[in-house]
Amino acid sequence: MLVNVMPRAKSIRSGWRCDSCGKLISGLQAGWVEWLAAEDTKGKPKVSGLRLVHRRNASQRNTSPRSREPYGCQYNPRDEFRKNRGIVEGLALDRFAGPDGLMLLLSMIAEHELPAQEVIELAKRVQIPGYEAVHELVHDAVSEGVIAPSISSGFYLQCEIWDVLRWAKYRTSTKAS
Ligand SMILES: [Zn+2]
Repeated sequence: MLVNVMPRAKSIRSGWRCDSCGKLISGLQAGWVEWLAAEDTKGKPKVSGLRLVHRRNASQRNTSPRSREPYGCQYNPRDEFRKNRGIVEGLALDRFAGPDGLMLLLSMIAEHELPAQEVIELAKRVQIPGYEAVHELVHDAVSEGVIAPSISSGFYLQCEIWDVLRWAKYRTSTKAS
């Protein structure tokens, strides 16, 4: 879990950023992964809108700024059905963690129901230590020459992630002083 493997990076950020409200999802138990199942104009099944949000019934629900709304940060099933006859589907974030979670993510990629890019991005966010903390910083880090991704853009080695984290921490501390 991200929170446990990144004690040195506490000042950066641990957990996940909610795709609905933009605030911190502090741990696996507070997260929810959801998507929309609908039909396209030809009646073919179409799945879209994969996102990671605050879980409505999480005990930490007060951390969600939208906790007063009936579905919190999650899709509102009635709204989505009205819009595109979309059916809201989802699973708790912890189902995507660990080896079983990786297997689930791989099966989602293999089934091609959701756009592979979206599932791959989710896989990186949940499975790769430090990825969530750096993926918004990495563009700047690359353009400033902090790292040159040796696999490819978007796919970073752990040592590269650590380099970005150290750079971001240094940048933050020099800004603060
Ligand atoms: Zn949220």
